[in-house]
Order: sequence, then C-alpha cells, then structure tokens
Amino acid sequence: MYFFPFYNPLFLGSLIILVPGIIAGVYAQHKVKSTYAKYAKVEAASGLTGAQAGRQLLDRAGLSDVTVEEIPGSLTDNYDPRTRVLRLSQGVARGRSLAALGVAAHETGHALQDAGGYAPMRIRSTLVPAAQFGSNFGWIIFIMGMIISSFRPLMTVGIVIFTAAVIFQIITLPVELDASSRAMKMLQSDGIVVAGEADGARQVLRAAALTYIAAALMSILMLVRMLILSRES
Ligand SMILES: [Zn+2]
Repeated sequence: MYFFPFYNPLFLGSLIILVPGIIAGVYAQHKVKSTYAKYAKVEAASGLTGAQAGRQLLDRAGLSDVTVEEIPGSLTDNYDPRTRVLRLSQGVARGRSLAALGVAAHETGHALQDAGGYAPMRIRSTLVPAAQFGSNFGWIIFIMGMIISSFRPLMTVGIVIFTAAVIFQIITLPVELDASSRAMKMLQSDGIVVAGEADGARQVLRAAALTYIAAALMSILMLVRMLILSRES
C-alpha cells in the first residue's frame, strides 16, 4: 500500500510509544543538573581539584602517560581512548567539590578500562562508526522506504542500520556503570573523599548514569516504532 507516511494515522499514533523515553530523558537531564549543582557546592576535605584528583588516580594506576586537559563547557568531560587524554570541563578540572571529584574519577575509570582492555569498552569503540551512521541515516532510509512504494526493502535496511545505534546505546550502559563503580572505589581507597562524603559523589554519578539509561530506552522505543510501522504498512 502506498501512502505518504505523515498522513498515515499509525505514523502519528505510534509516536505515543516514544512518550516514556521522552519523559525519562527530561527527568534524567533535570536530575543530573540538579544533583550536580547540589554537590558542586559541597567541598571535599581533601582539598584536591578534579584535575589533581584525576592526575593522582592515573599515576597511582600506572597511567602517567595519560594526559589531563581542561576543555570548555559544562559536563563535557570525557576520556578519549585514541589520544589517551582525559578532558575535564573547567568546573570539574578546577572544582574541589564532591561533584567535580566524582566526575574526574569517573573519567579516570574510563582510562583504566581502556588500559585494561575492558571488553564492553572495546566493543563500544568498534561500534562507533556504525552507530553514528545508524543514528544519522537509519531513520531517513526507513522513511524513504515508507514513502516510495518501489523502495520497500529500504525499510528493512533502515531498521538494520538503526539497530547498530541501539546496540551501541545498550553496550554503553555497562561501560558507564563500571567507570562509576571504579571511580567510587578509587576515590575512597585514595582518601580523596572520606566516608561521609562518598555518598555525594555517588549520587552525582548515579544521576549521570540515568541519562545513559534514558538514551538507551529512547533508542529501543524508536526501534520498536520502526518495527511496528514496517509491519503495518
Ligand atoms: Zn562515562
């Protein structure tokens, strides 16, 4: 059956499938911002900045060759496995708060995963190109298949390509949770946060994990919607 999908009741009706993902995403964004803001005001007794803590934890793990850099933005912190650079946002690099220390230790956790050949991280890294292509073009190809009646198989192609992006979002979860669990262990064993402070750093990292869970949920729901649309049209 040929139709222009935007006038198809199912095309619009199936948008409702995405609602839980949108709600989860908005909630996670709110939670991470509010939790970060709360614990960015609580300074740790150790007096270390995020950059100093990152440096100390890297050296302790024998990763003196991993460099720590400051980057602009807020919550833009990341570890780049290709260049082996820990990039900390200004607030984290210079901050002495439980939030800053938590985020710095989390990124250090990624550097440790990289050095130790942590399998989910390796799989995730190899999936990056396919996932980027899938999230950019999977839906477009799918829609082309929907609109052009002679291009029906494109719907399946779009679904397969988009699935790469979904798998990427799912494999991101163990990578992120493991980095946070490494972070909490390191922060406490090195005395960078003491017993009464650990919970603040943990809450920041838990809130950050929510954003990854919400993103994975959203991508799964988008895939479900594509599957329903492909069956019914
Ligand atoms: Zn992370």
